[in-house]
Amino acid sequence: MQCPRDGTVLENVVVLRTILDKCHTCDGLWLDAGELERICDKHVTGVEEQLEKDFGNPVAERRPMKGFMRCPKCENARLQRIGYSYSGSKVVEIDRCESCLGLWIDKGELDAIVNAQMTKGSKPDEDEAASRLTMFIRSIGRLFG
Ligand SMILES: [Zn+2]
Ligand SMILES: [Zn+2]
Repeated sequence: MQCPRDGTVLENVVVLRTILDKCHTCDGLWLDAGELERICDKHVTGVEEQLEKDFGNPVAERRPMKGFMRCPKCENARLQRIGYSYSGSKVVEIDRCESCLGLWIDKGELDAIVNAQMTKGSKPDEDEAASRLTMFIRSIGRLFG
């Protein structure tokens, strides 16, 4: 598969014990609909409670498209841009394939989630980052489920 943004061939990376496809040029990440489900299905105690506590109820909003990216899996399917925010905080934009329901997440978008609420100057903790990513992905899964 190729990156929808710059055409780089995507390589496998393991995130949260799931193999995802990553672009090493723009650091974007592709999640198949099935991969999203697998991550959402992993039983992690307290994640939902923590998510509610930290972010409240997620709100999704569809944005008008300016141009479009093509799905790396489905040759002619468009990726649809969706604005996603946690109760009025920073809006994160993700791209979803209308056909296979896979998700494209840009590097900056991931960082916005992983680094949200991290104290300035503190060293990013890998477990902390992973749990924020899990929460983010699971909340997206719930949004689309
Ligand atoms: Zn790329
Ligand atoms: Zn697709």
